[in-house]
Amino acid sequence: MKHTQKRILVTGGAGFLGSHLCDRLVAAGNDVLCLDNFFTGSKENIAHLIVKPNFELIRHDLVEPILLEVDEIYNMACPASPIHYQYNPVKTTKTSVMGAINMLGLAKRVEAKILQASTSEVYGDPAIHPQTESYWGNVNTIGPRSCYDEGKRCAETLFFDYYRQNRVNIRVVRIFNTYGPRMHPNDGRVVSNFVVQSLSNLDITVYGDGSQTRSFCYVDDLIEGLIRMMDGSDDFVGPVNLGNPGEFSMLELAEMIIKMTGSRSKIIFEALPQDDPLQRQPDIALAKERLGWEPKIKLEEGLMRTIEHFKNGVYESKTNDQ
Ligand code: NAD
Ligand code: UDP
Repeated sequence: MKHTQKRILVTGGAGFLGSHLCDRLVAAGNDVLCLDNFFTGSKENIAHLIVKPNFELIRHDLVEPILLEVDEIYNMACPASPIHYQYNPVKTTKTSVMGAINMLGLAKRVEAKILQASTSEVYGDPAIHPQTESYWGNVNTIGPRSCYDEGKRCAETLFFDYYRQNRVNIRVVRIFNTYGPRMHPNDGRVVSNFVVQSLSNLDITVYGDGSQTRSFCYVDDLIEGLIRMMDGSDDFVGPVNLGNPGEFSMLELAEMIIKMTGSRSKIIFEALPQDDPLQRQPDIALAKERLGWEPKIKLEEGLMRTIEHFKNGVYESKTNDQ
């Protein structure tokens, strides 16, 4: 092992974002430990890394403590799509809260730097637009999204208390909707849903009237932001927003994906899920100023790469002359 090689733990490393992060960290020559319980992640996402001498896979549930020796921790473990995190909401809160406690305890014991993958969901259905880090949010404590939103909010609280109380070297990033290859095809998130539906010429399910907005960041841009935050100055711990400020309505997104795939799909309207935020757009001035970071990949280009990925899967159905 090279003297300068860092040992880096990625929890949730077999998931969508975690696996892309492992790719970058392994390629940079770090010794990477990928920890996952495979709830939503898959071995396929990291199969190409298993052969690398500087990559190691640990099957473990983050709700249980674990003893490891590492220099850095990226805490990514948590189901992220509404249908996945609402499948077992008690477990979702446990993963966020007990997972954070376990990882912060580990960071404290071995003096590791630790980054939390927080979320724009901490802003809930925001009353200010675009969202800045100073906004405290508008979150329902008892709704179907609360297990995720409040779990992530409590995790942020724990990070800042370990920072103040125990001097743990923390970083907190608030990730806005991110998309790209290796999204779970059935996770119900809007980009994967619309792409899979379009490629299969199935109806495109727009919830509500489709006027609600989101801002979509391509995965490579996001990973660059995460690494810059981890490697940045110790006096900048966050929270910092990472996302792409380009804001689109769900109807615009549906029309764009239908056009790009040359699909025969029709748009249909379904009920808007409870507590679905009406608008979301990150203010990324802080990330620009402190990390010199901003996304580079436009939605159309990122969607093209994502569509190509799903085309190579089994999602181009021939059964859709409906
Ligand atoms: P994902 O579901 O693909 O990845 C989550 C990973 O965590 C999976 O591999 C899953 O198996 C693992 N996991 C879940 N519970 C676990 C547990 N108890 N123990 C061990 N592993 C566990 O989701 P993602 O999109 O890659 O999200 C990664 C992180 O980023 C999450 O913490 C999520 O909240 C955050 N985030 C993602 C987005 C986004 O748009 N993708 C936005 C905001 C925040
Ligand atoms: N959405 C939609 N059709 C779908 C899936 C999602 O219209 O098939 C909408 C959803 O109601 C929300 C937006 O797309 O307004 C983003 O949903 P997603 O689950 O991807 O992310 P989140 O709501 O967590 O931002």
